[in-house]
Order: sequence, then C-alpha cells, then structure tokens
Amino acid sequence: MSEPAFDVAVIGAGVVGCAVARRFVLGGARVLLLEKGADLLSGASKANSAILHTGFDAPGGSLELACMQRGYAEYMQIAQALNLPVLETGALVAAWSDQEFERLAQLHAQASDNGVHDVQRLDRAEMLAREPHIAPSVRGGLLVPGEHVIDPWSAPLAYLRQAVENGGRAVFDAPLLAGRRVGAQWRLHSARGHFRARCVVNCAGLWGDRVEAMLLGQASFQIKPRKGQFVVFDKSASALLRSILLPVPGEHSKGIVLTRTVFGNLLVGPTAEEQEDRSRATVERAALQRLIDKAGQLLPALRTMPVTAVYAGLRPASEKKEYRLHLQADAGYFAVGGIRSTGLTAALGLAAHVFDRLRPCLPDLAPPDRVLCSPVPNLAEHRERDWEKPGDNDIVCHCERVTRREIEAALTGPVPALDLGGLKRRTRVCMGRCQGFHCAARVAELSAGHFHAPLALATLDRHG
Ligand SMILES: Cc1cc2nc3c(=O)[nH]c(=O)nc-3n(C[C@H](O)[C@H](O)[C@H](O)COP(=O)(O)OP(=O)(O)OC[C@H]3O[C@@H](n4cnc5c(N)ncnc54)[C@H](O)[C@@H]3O)c2cc1C
Repeated sequence: MSEPAFDVAVIGAGVVGCAVARRFVLGGARVLLLEKGADLLSGASKANSAILHTGFDAPGGSLELACMQRGYAEYMQIAQALNLPVLETGALVAAWSDQEFERLAQLHAQASDNGVHDVQRLDRAEMLAREPHIAPSVRGGLLVPGEHVIDPWSAPLAYLRQAVENGGRAVFDAPLLAGRRVGAQWRLHSARGHFRARCVVNCAGLWGDRVEAMLLGQASFQIKPRKGQFVVFDKSASALLRSILLPVPGEHSKGIVLTRTVFGNLLVGPTAEEQEDRSRATVERAALQRLIDKAGQLLPALRTMPVTAVYAGLRPASEKKEYRLHLQADAGYFAVGGIRSTGLTAALGLAAHVFDRLRPCLPDLAPPDRVLCSPVPNLAEHRERDWEKPGDNDIVCHCERVTRREIEAALTGPVPALDLGGLKRRTRVCMGRCQGFHCAARVAELSAGHFHAPLALATLDRHG
C-alpha cells in the first residue's frame, strides 16, 4: 500500500475542522485535513458575527452549551500565546416592549442555570448611561459582561497553523470524493490523491450530510442552510456603541445584533432565511435596507452613517435545533454536523469533545514532548497594528492600513493564503471603504505566483 497513512482524517477546514485537527495533533495523532476549497474558511466559517458567546441563553444542559463554555474557556486560555484578540465589550440584551421586558426575568434565570452568574438586570436609565446613543425608548435590559468580540478569521487560522507546525498535514483543493472502510482503516479518495486513515472526523459543515452519506451509505442528519445577511457600517460608526446590542432572543434565532468588530467597524445582522442552495450566499437589497432601517431604530445616529460593505453567510443548520454529533466507534467515524450559529465559540470545545470520544479508538496516541506555538498577526484595531511598528512601513491598502510586510507574511508561512479570499481574511487588504479600488493592482502584483488560480482583476470584487 503506497497511500500516505494517518491516524485521523478531518474533512473540512472550517473553524470546527481546524480546531479538531489541532486538538488531535496536540494529542499525538498523525492528522490529515482535506478541504475542498482553495483555502481554509471556504464555507460557513468565512462569514459570521464574530461573537464569543458565554452560553447564557443556550439550551440548558445541552451539548451545545457544554461545548461553547469549554471552547470559550480554552480560547481565553490560549489567546495570549497565539496572539488572538478579544474585544471585551460585554453585551446588553435590550427590551423594547413590555412583553420583552417581562421575558428578561426568565432569561436572567436561564443565564444563572447555565452557570453565567454575572448577568445583571438594568433599568432604562442604566441602559442609557451605558449606551447613550441607543434609542431612548428602550425599556430596560440585561448586562452580560462575558460576551466578547473576536477575530473570526485569525482564530481558525491560528488553530490550523498550530496543527501544521506540529506535524499535521492540510491539503486544499482536495474534496473528498469517496471513502470506504477496509479492515481497521479508511481508504479515502480525494481530488488530490488517495489516503488512508484509522478514523475520519466529518467537519464538512454545509456538506456534512452528503459526506456522511458518501462514507456510511446514508446520513443521520439533513443540512438545511440558513442564510444570514449583514451590513457593515463605516469605522466612524463604531464610536456610537460600546457593547454588543442583542435583542431578547426568539425561538429560532438569536435575532438582529448590533456589534462592533475587532476591525473597528460596526455591524448589523444577521437575517435568518432558509434556503436550498448550499453554495451561494447572496445579498438582497430589500433585506439589507431592512437591516439598515433596524440599525437606525436601535441607534438613531446610524441613520447618517455610511455603509462600507455588505455580506452574507450560510449557517449549516439541520432539521433539528441541536448540534448533530454522532460517533460510530466500530467504523472509526465521528460526525460534527449542524454546527449552525455558535460554532466559532464552540469549536475548541467541540474539538476537545471529539478527541475525548474518539480516544478509545486510538489507544496508542501519546502527546508530543514539545508543542510549537507561533502567534498569528494582529488585525484588531484596539491593539498595535503592523503599520504602527517601526521599520519600513510600505502601506498597500490605505483604507485598512495593510502593509506590504503583512501581505508578504500571509503569502508565506505555515498556512499561506492560497486565494484572494484567504489573503483578505489574513490581512484585511481590499476590505475597507474602497473595497480594493485603489490597492487591487498592487495586491495582484504582490500575490503573483502564489495562488493556484491566477488573480484577474475582474475577480477581485467577487471573493469574500
Ligand atoms: C450568519 C452567521 C452568524 C454567525 N455568528 C456566530 C457568532 O457570532 N458566534 C459564533 O460562535 N458562531 C457564529 N456563527 C456560527 C459559525 O460561523 C458556524 O457555526 C461555523 O462556521 C460552522 O463551521 P463548520 O466548520 O462546521 O463549517 P464550515 O465553515 O462550513 O466548514 C466546512 C468545510 O468543509 C469543506 N467541505 C465540504 N465538503 C467537503 C468535502 N467533500 N471534502 C473536503 N472538504 C469539504 C467546506 O469547503 C468547508 O470549508 C455564525 C454563522 C453564521 C452563518
């Protein structure tokens, strides 16, 4: 047999797959990660609200809650070593009607049951003292101090980099096409070659049910994509809000959120729209206008603020509300499916859970003596950016103040950017006010020869 052999093959380099790959590498496994996209974060994980949730409003006793809280704790524990930013905003759940105001007591009790004990009730005056720009019609709210904002892209990148630096292998443009169990191993056929693995962890997000059907003959869950559209206001708007402004949650969605980003913008969204298409997350003018109007109702000063960008993401929701985790120990198979709205927070917790459950299938693993841990570049505006550091600061993207040094670093290193979307998510180049109008030619020049598919200027505005 000539195919390379691994202990674990992870399918999918979304935030969950990156975290799972890291966890198994740190546990001593030989790990292969297969990703069908040209770079990591080609699916759901490229577009979210970037909130690190405490789980205060998660279903009590659920695995989702446990994974979120375990993930939150590990994120905080490794943030400094990996240079991951945390914008410590806290959140305010705002009640705008008598009915919502009455539901705060129940939500407060739920937070306490979920182990989030620092939540406080605020009256209208206290809400306005904390957030002077919100609409004065607010009835009251809850303060959730532990909800924070993180960088949704540097976190998974850091997880995968640590996996690769410590011996894991990531292969891109490598959709899994077929797989079968032969004896105690999986024989996997991808577009980039054949591999063997003792166990498979299915982290294929929006395609998780299809991958499971491919491997097991049928799927135990069904993905039902749920789209979320967002509007990004200009950086000047972020001075209008300190906390994450949450609605009183509904039955099916967390509702429309107003939040700052670590990149210095202010974000409103997401919508929650069921759709069949698993690949395309389009934005629609009418939905975006409703978001802009909603943002203006919550924070009236936003009505005069310019919009910098719009985007949409697809949640890998399933036909049930809960996460769809499924171990088939005799087949060395684990599905991490249906990670719809909280996967950024839960990823490290999910990874730890999968490792604990699959560990008996891999009894001979021994953690490495030494673990490499290199920091990711910082893109958060509340911390020192590269352009502020001494040296030759040749700024390529003036909107987001991205230096040539940052672009060159993102094109090399342990997990280099392999397409324009990957470069944007690693540096923020082309993501500011002009959306690449001024810097695109320079970016094309600097990235020449680095991407599998050559960068044509006409494609620049289509990569998100
Ligand atoms: C609108 C929105 C807002 C959100 N807000 C938050 C938030 O504020 N906080 C939070 O914690 N979470 C949030 N989330 C949730 C979070 O983004 C998702 O839970 C998470 O991205 C799901 O990650 P995943 O790794 O399971 O899936 P994905 O990111 O979709 O990763 C799956 C990967 O598998 C690959 N793949 C598929 N099929 C194959 C195959 N055959 N072979 C190889 N690779 C394959 C795909 O290309 C993809 O890269 C939000 C999500 C959305 C959409």
